[in-house]
Amino acid sequence: MKSSLAGPQFLERAAVPIFTNTMHQSDECRRIVARLTDFLEATLDAPAHQEVSAHLAQCTACSRTLHELRLTISLLGRLPKHKR
Ligand SMILES: [Zn+2]
Repeated sequence: MKSSLAGPQFLERAAVPIFTNTMHQSDECRRIVARLTDFLEATLDAPAHQEVSAHLAQCTACSRTLHELRLTISLLGRLPKHKR
């Protein structure tokens, strides 16, 4: 494992279970939310990407989560990098 508090990636991964626990009850939503980070990074394969995208189109909770996750990531991206 890389140094655990090294940067935004740690926080991105950490954010997913937080969103999962607070807003989503259905198994499908949990599955989608678990993939949102990969969705944003465009690392999903085409069928998975399409599945997430289709779910987001019909699920307000998940699309809100995507929005918040994107916002969080863009904020993190703007943080000055400090050396430890
Ligand atoms: Zn959903």
